[in-house]
Amino acid sequence: MRNPIIVTGGAGYIGSHTCKALHAAGYTPVSYDNMVYGHHWAVRWGPHEVGDIHDRTRIDAVLEEYRPTAIIHFAAYAYVGESMQDPGKYYRNNVAGTLTLLEAMRDHGIDKLVFSSSCATYGLPEQVPIAEEHPQRPINPYGTSKLMVEWMLRDFGDAHGLRAIALRYFNAAGADPASDIGESHDPETHLIPLVLDAALGRRSEVTIFGDDYPTVDGTCIRDYIHVTDLAQAHVLALQALEQGASSTAYNLGNGYGFSVREVIDCVERVTQRSVPALIGARRPGDPPRLVGDSTRIRAELGWQPVYAALDTIIATAWRWSRQKKADDQHGPNHV
Ligand code: UDP
Repeated sequence: MRNPIIVTGGAGYIGSHTCKALHAAGYTPVSYDNMVYGHHWAVRWGPHEVGDIHDRTRIDAVLEEYRPTAIIHFAAYAYVGESMQDPGKYYRNNVAGTLTLLEAMRDHGIDKLVFSSSCATYGLPEQVPIAEEHPQRPINPYGTSKLMVEWMLRDFGDAHGLRAIALRYFNAAGADPASDIGESHDPETHLIPLVLDAALGRRSEVTIFGDDYPTVDGTCIRDYIHVTDLAQAHVLALQALEQGASSTAYNLGNGYGFSVREVIDCVERVTQRSVPALIGARRPGDPPRLVGDSTRIRAELGWQPVYAALDTIIATAWRWSRQKKADDQHGPNHV
């Protein structure tokens, strides 16, 4: 087997797109996923090992079988609202589970990790665009759990020589341009898939969470980044570690933001369908404007987003959503 890399959460949204990118770059992605939120149909580019990051015996067996040189770690819960209601679930899975994984890596002599972190580690921005030096003061347990892992990575680096690159994503969006895989959350809470569902008539409308923010049209602004560009950044981070890079963290965004209304307008333009939108209450914990400064990863790893335009991001997600619908109707290709 050529260059096996363990991808925890490889059956999830960003994990599966990264498996495709790894495969194209000459690696064998070995998906390690407990299938709580993962999809069997999303694992297409390498072996699929069902297992939990809490299960040390299972992790040991998989590491012994594949003898990977590195791990890309996505497996985590990622619903911000749920993390406020049930923080223990987030600390147990995202923090304690990652600790089990790190100890296994240490004991198996695996010293390279790419970690799926988040702009949620920054909390409320003091200025935008947000660069890596911005203070990290998360405002919800999800963000705190990701920051705690970043701290564990630092300490495992100091004590055991682990080298880790944490990638702090802004808003992952879009789908594989070939429509092999795409976004499919249950429950779905993200703006773009919800707006596309409304365009498809799968839901009657979307609710805009507040239109009285201090932004151009009063709705929140986010930096949407295409999942395939994100996936490519993981491959670059892995290659940098292989070439001896030290531990660091990089932001991943496109560097410009779009309001909720602009996203809805763009969906209407791309799909040629209308999307009924209601104005609802603000969602607690939503900063008005989150935009990432990704200058460092561009300069240091040569990362170059290919699908940066919002129209492209939405067009790929649209293609995927429609196909998903067709498959749902004609028998589950998508389980
Ligand atoms: N949003 C919205 N209605 C929805 C879902 C999301 O207005 O039904 C807004 C949300 O308040 C935020 C933006 O869309 O400003 C992006 O939200 P999403 O949940 O996709 O990502 P987040 O920024 O929370 O990571």
